[in-house]
Amino acid sequence: MYSGGLDSTAMLVKLLAETPDELRVHHIRMQNREQRASAEQAAVQAVLAFCRTRYRPFRYSESGLEFSQLEAIPIDYLSIAFVACQVAIDTPGCTRIAVGSLARDTDIVNRSARQRRVFDALYECYRARKLGEKHVEWITPVFDCSKTEIAALIPAEIRELTWSCRRPVAVAGGYRPCGACKACLARTTI
Ligand SMILES: [Zn+2]
Repeated sequence: MYSGGLDSTAMLVKLLAETPDELRVHHIRMQNREQRASAEQAAVQAVLAFCRTRYRPFRYSESGLEFSQLEAIPIDYLSIAFVACQVAIDTPGCTRIAVGSLARDTDIVNRSARQRRVFDALYECYRARKLGEKHVEWITPVFDCSKTEIAALIPAEIRELTWSCRRPVAVAGGYRPCGACKACLARTTI
């Protein structure tokens, strides 16, 4: 599952560079009041184009979740669990799903457990219809990395293309990071 941010880019680079695994990269266009979808989308396209040339080919797909008219911001990790399930049963032979969770993120142990519970419950519904593989492993290839290790995994040219900000500010010709959201602040620690 790929967002265009640093953590999932590090994960993608690791999987492309260090494994022979056949990959299906999936991005969710998260549209909500924060208006981050377009900025993320541009980063995703740029990073993936670069990775294809630099590493090896992979399958790519995306889907969209549109919540712009809601006041409340949907919880990303739950949306990811739901979409991951749908993508898994859409991918013949899929037995593993990789997410870019980091051990150092706040509340990650609880959050990862809840995310996995959502996935398992949904997957069980699909299995009841005989869809998907019997067992799907939920993997977190960069879980034990520090933010510095994450940055080191990603070649500089690719790092510049990633996008972290959740509340991008529209400027002529694109967007600039707000500099104040949680994701922007985490990025300054690198
Ligand atoms: Zn920001």
